[in-house]
Amino acid sequence: MSDWVIETENLTKEFKGFRAVNGVGLKVARGTIHALIGPNGAGKTTCFNLITKFLQPTTGKILYNGRDITAAKPHDVARMGLVRSFQISAVFPHLTVLENVRVALQRRLGTSYHFWKPETSVEVLDDQAMDLLEQVGVASYARLTAGELPYGRKRALEIATTLALDPEMLLLDEPMAGMGREDIKRISDLILRVAENRTVLMVEHNLSVVADLSDRITVLARGEILAEGSYAEVSSDPAVVEAYMGT
Ligand code: ADP
Repeated sequence: MSDWVIETENLTKEFKGFRAVNGVGLKVARGTIHALIGPNGAGKTTCFNLITKFLQPTTGKILYNGRDITAAKPHDVARMGLVRSFQISAVFPHLTVLENVRVALQRRLGTSYHFWKPETSVEVLDDQAMDLLEQVGVASYARLTAGELPYGRKRALEIATTLALDPEMLLLDEPMAGMGREDIKRISDLILRVAENRTVLMVEHNLSVVADLSDRITVLARGEILAEGSYAEVSSDPAVVEAYMGT
């Protein structure tokens, strides 16, 4: 098996002639936490959307475990184990916390109430859902509606719903956006735990979080890779400092 979970080759995305992503060759090693950083407008979200297939590249290739997924659809790659979370909370606010995870488990198992099987009974699924809620620290909120959750716990629930899909690789789009210090600590611990047996690629603005969590960092600027390496390496790179100062 390839050492790289994700490899992009010459990945390029144009919007009406403007190159938001320009010839990016990104490699994400198995079992690592890899951060994608860079100033606003650098092309991070576009890259993220290309890898998760929410956008189709103008040119270039995307390999997942060595397999060409350039032409795949988002639900295809999700089924292959490449699962993203959304920056805007994607939980169903009127369902309970527990039901949100149950729905995600049902999605993975492809179950429907018309084809009842013991392993997909509500009781069995709810046991699994409670396990996941415990893992992300929201089990005590299980019976509340998701809409009633405090923001940080909602993000934790969102991670639980992505874990319910049993991903090999998790893509997190600004997991710390809008969070206070306590939630940042809680979600950081969660990401470290999640990454014990998975690969994580995250776009994150909070550089102290990036420094604490990431094994490797790719810095994008103007659609191109500006630098790569550990946090110490990229943060002392004059080109990176200049790119950040220039915004
Ligand atoms: P980042 O996430 O690093 O802030 P983005 O990937 O969101 O950067 O955007 C990169 C560039 O591409 C920006 O200049 C942005 O305005 C442009 N862009 C992104 N999406 C679109 C789109 N759908 N149509 C036109 N331009 C876009």
